[in-house]
Amino acid sequence: MCLPLPGDCSLDLVDQVVDERQNGRHAARFRGWKAGWRARVQEYLDHGGSPEHIHPWAAVADYAATFHNLYNSSKPDTAHGDMLRRLRDHELRLCPACGELGRPNTLDHYLPKAAYPHFSLTPANLFPMCDACQGEKLVKTGSPAEPRFFLHPYFDAFAADQILKLTIIPPFNAPTFVLEPQGVTEAQAAVITAHLRELDISGRYVKFFKDEHRRLLRNVSRMRDKEQDVLATLESWAFDAADPTPNSWQHLFYDGVLVNPDFLEYLTEGDLPSYL
Ligand SMILES: [Zn+2]
Repeated sequence: MCLPLPGDCSLDLVDQVVDERQNGRHAARFRGWKAGWRARVQEYLDHGGSPEHIHPWAAVADYAATFHNLYNSSKPDTAHGDMLRRLRDHELRLCPACGELGRPNTLDHYLPKAAYPHFSLTPANLFPMCDACQGEKLVKTGSPAEPRFFLHPYFDAFAADQILKLTIIPPFNAPTFVLEPQGVTEAQAAVITAHLRELDISGRYVKFFKDEHRRLLRNVSRMRDKEQDVLATLESWAFDAADPTPNSWQHLFYDGVLVNPDFLEYLTEGDLPSYL
């Protein structure tokens, strides 16, 4: 899913955090970091946070706890405390990293704060994520073979479109499901594939698709009993599920149904299983 960049400017936040520390015991240290910190935040914005281009900052490696303490304390009426409160006060109904329905209730550091402590408080590096995704992502960023594992919700604008397609493979009373990138470049498809794998989205969505498939067969049976228009109803559900993203699990499922004429024929004309 693609999200708008947070309203808080990542560069201004550096200035504000440094200014707010000027009466404290780390005043000189923060003043000394300011120019380098700003330059690294600018580099982050220029490269969309990609770990392929952005490397840890050796000069602050021994002071990671100083940055982490700021993030963890996040007192109100401080610039970073207010920024974090605004980021947590979102209205998302699904996780922007995986598309599963449910309010994402943690903030993820796209570049992990362990290796990149100076991005602990960078708004462009922070976005809401579900517990399941965060439990899989941890401190991973990439590997020598795949320098970038994860889509970035603020910078990968192509994720605003439907970038996945679901194929539903017969037998239709107990199908298998294949989720693949669609309509993207080879390089984008490589990141999407790594993203799905590293967040174990495949392992998680299969259960959802199986449950949704059984629910669909039950609902279609009821529609046919009431002589409702099955196709029009499914189109309406798919339309509804495309908001806020066509990559939600619900939308991908109903899109996979609607682009499959054989499955549609089965739903409208076939003998539906009686286990329902
Ligand atoms: Zn998630």
